[in-house]
Amino acid sequence: MSPKISFKDVSRVFEVSGRPVFTALDRLSLDIDDGEFITVVGPSGCGKSTAMNIAAGLLPPSSGRVLVDGVEVRGPGPERGVIFQQYALFPWLTVRENVEFGLRLTGMPKAERRKVADHFIDLVNLGHFADSLPKMLSGGMKQRCAIARAYAVNPKILLMDEPFGALDALTRVQLQDQLLQTWSRDRRTVMFITHDVDEAVYLANRVVVMAARPGRLDRIIPVDLPYPRTEEIRLSPEFAALRNEVWRAVYHPRLQQSA
Ligand code: ADP
Ligand code: MG
Repeated sequence: MSPKISFKDVSRVFEVSGRPVFTALDRLSLDIDDGEFITVVGPSGCGKSTAMNIAAGLLPPSSGRVLVDGVEVRGPGPERGVIFQQYALFPWLTVRENVEFGLRLTGMPKAERRKVADHFIDLVNLGHFADSLPKMLSGGMKQRCAIARAYAVNPKILLMDEPFGALDALTRVQLQDQLLQTWSRDRRTVMFITHDVDEAVYLANRVVVMAARPGRLDRIIPVDLPYPRTEEIRLSPEFAALRNEVWRAVYHPRLQQSA
């Protein structure tokens, strides 16, 4: 089976005025299978967002290419839903209107839009707030609204850039479990960036560890834990061992090389 997403020797160089050319991403090659859940970790500035923005079609690569279902990415597309850390809701639209907005772009008729939007609003437990404006919502609720909007379009691929980064620990754990539930049911392909090592291990089939200067793939750590992931798994010695391995890879790469 060919991969769902394929990074082929993808590099991105930024030219900063008055400063030397900067390599944000250096020849990233990575295959993500259909239905796979990949998390990406690495120190700040190692090119995680750059890689994801290229896959999203929001940023062109300097060289190399990203293939989705074998077709080169040349811009955004409805099969790729993107969720950023900052909520990116339209402040003048209600929760329901925000969720419906993406559906409008797909040309779905109004009555159906409403039904689909309400389904996903319920899914993220915002049913009581469908008519509220974003300013009435907490950070976690806004992020749930952004997630509902992305899910509603039913993208085959979810690209998530530190989506839970700004949330408190409890909300974060709830959204992780919710995300895993929908993923188990629908088997979307997910590329999920996080700086939280626990989160990376808890969610993933494989953890992609990146390194900085220049931003590049360092190693891939398979997570051989069963789904559904539960609190029991989160507290297991196997989980702890994986978390420690990822942590060392990110924060003490030299220690691990000499080990
Ligand atoms: P990460 O998401 O891993 O923290 P990024 O992909 O955002 O890293 O950035 C990688 C590097 O590229 C960083 O050093 C960042 O400063 C630089 N960079 C990102 N975007 C730009 C840009 N538009 N212009 C110049 N440099 C950039
Ligand atoms: Mg980033």
